[in-house]
Amino acid sequence: MRGKYLILGIILAVGVIIIGCEATKKAVSEVNAFPIADDIKLGKQVSDQIAADPKQFPILPEASNQQVYSYVKGIRDKILNTGKVKYKNTFKWELKIIDDDKTLNAFVTPGGYIYIYTGLIKFLDTEDQLAGVMGHEIAHADRRHSTRQMTKSGALGMLSKAVLGDQNAVGQVVNGLIGLKFSRSSEEEADKYSVSYLCSTNYKADGAAGFFVKMKGKGGAPPKFLSTHPVSTDRIKDIKLESRRLGCKGAGAGFGTYDRIKNLLK
Ligand SMILES: [Zn+2]
Repeated sequence: MRGKYLILGIILAVGVIIIGCEATKKAVSEVNAFPIADDIKLGKQVSDQIAADPKQFPILPEASNQQVYSYVKGIRDKILNTGKVKYKNTFKWELKIIDDDKTLNAFVTPGGYIYIYTGLIKFLDTEDQLAGVMGHEIAHADRRHSTRQMTKSGALGMLSKAVLGDQNAVGQVVNGLIGLKFSRSSEEEADKYSVSYLCSTNYKADGAAGFFVKMKGKGGAPPKFLSTHPVSTDRIKDIKLESRRLGCKGAGAGFGTYDRIKNLLK
């Protein structure tokens, strides 16, 4: 039974930014047997579970970090307001920062609960890069990658269990959100949407590529990170190509404000 839940967790885990490329180039199936309400319900379950586990997920308190939160939420809102996010008014799009400098990651649950680690914010150099990563995460939720993959794998009963609040199932979903290898086609789609979202803003639309370039140059990444996040040159190239293909002209947000926000986290 545990194995089954583990599979559920892995399939549902939507957020991790870079992938293990074991899947084919085929586009991820659009078919989804789940109602939107299930994405929302499942996201709430996972978010409650995360809130109940401050040891693994030490949430940076919003009250004492208002400037940082309003800055990061501002980036999120810019993306949501592009008119390109289908479930902008349906999903929650709640944003939490996890106070963990060692983890260079971000993830999103179904239904749009976004989590960003302080480690990622500190690692990046520009607002465009963070916007690129956030666009990628928002795309995973908005494109409903987790429930689409569950549909494809025929694991309908198991997801229902988690949606109905089976704590064991939800726990496995939460664990799956970290250290996940998501399917290549979903990752490619999320990268593409990130470019498309940012193309409608003043950000550099290939912001996500900057993250991958940085990761590639990082020699001393912890083995656990490298095992789940191999950086592919194709991916960097594809993001840049997509930005050119769409004729994106964003000048970028620059360094000044981003450095100031990073300093607030010190
Ligand atoms: Zn991803």
